[in-house]
Amino acid sequence: MTNRIHNFGAGPAVLPEPVLEQARDQLLALAGVGMSVLEISHRSKAFDEILAAAETNIRALAGVPDDYHVLFLQGGATLQFSMAPMNLLPPDGSGAADYVVTGSWARQAAAEAEKFGAVRVAGTTEPDGYRRLPAQDELTFSGDAAYVHLTTNNTIVGTQWRLMPETGETPLVVDASSDIFSRPVEVARHGLIYAGAQKNLGPAGVTLVIIRRDLAERGAASLPKLLRYATHVKGGSRANTPPVFAIYLVSLVTAWLREQGGLAAMAERNARKAELLYAAIDRSGFYRGVAAPPHRSLMNATFRLTDDALEARFVAEAEAAGLAGLKGHRSVGGLRASLYNACPVESVKALAEFMAEFERRHG
Ligand code: PMP
Repeated sequence: MTNRIHNFGAGPAVLPEPVLEQARDQLLALAGVGMSVLEISHRSKAFDEILAAAETNIRALAGVPDDYHVLFLQGGATLQFSMAPMNLLPPDGSGAADYVVTGSWARQAAAEAEKFGAVRVAGTTEPDGYRRLPAQDELTFSGDAAYVHLTTNNTIVGTQWRLMPETGETPLVVDASSDIFSRPVEVARHGLIYAGAQKNLGPAGVTLVIIRRDLAERGAASLPKLLRYATHVKGGSRANTPPVFAIYLVSLVTAWLREQGGLAAMAERNARKAELLYAAIDRSGFYRGVAAPPHRSLMNATFRLTDDALEARFVAEAEAAGLAGLKGHRSVGGLRASLYNACPVESVKALAEFMAEFERRHG
């Protein structure tokens, strides 16, 4: 028995309980090492093994082709908003990139890219409050773009691409922070995939980057050393001291994902959890889903009540009932339940029951 409650926070988010137990059991001393993972050198054999395990697990889970690098970086997904254009566009600012703007993270990524080249908005659903995704025929890609950038799952409003749009020969660069490894991914369709670990992969402090070999070499030598992908490729994610503990947890979470049956099994489980929750949202009209139903995220379910006061009450009563993290993002308000890989189906059932009971009392 533990004193853990149901955690629906958007990130940093719930981690698999067996992973936390394993980390606890190994915290004082790693087996055969006699020191904590918090105390070992990032050049030690023990850490060589941890880093190799994390990479091996990621390659196995996602079927990462050999001509892609797997990197563990710092600075979060937000630093990737800068690093992607810095490295993939020419240093003289003459390049162009297409951005699909489907939420506030996508908008921030595009704004950062504007510092390094011409940004073309290939499509946006801003006039609809980002509550839906653009259809393929609403997207216009420019033939000369160095890459197309999109956000696979829009954490704040709660939309998620089911099928990535067709971008032809132009490399697809995705911010997959909030749905990485929640379903199978065709890595070869992408030039670059990046994700902060703190939702589906581990704790805050490490960012996963999967990048095609030729793109990793593109960054100019004049870039600041640590902002160049080639530096991290050359240094094997150890160009300087990496976040050892965060990478260790990623190695445990990815091992757990493999034990669970891999990404296809996670996709199936995540679909079941989302179905349960959206059924609770749609049941009577008391709750209103925010995102257009065909584009609803399986990771972040957003919903509203009739007024702010009732929503505040929902959050407070949920918390008292052991259901945490249900407040919507501060920029949009409302309610949001995040159902990442490590969120157990039991938590979703508990939330659905709480929602029915709350409606009985306040409906
Ligand atoms: N992109 C998306 C889709 C996100 O959800 C977030 C964080 N919630 C970010 C980027 C920013 O990530 P970080 O805090 O790791 O920089």
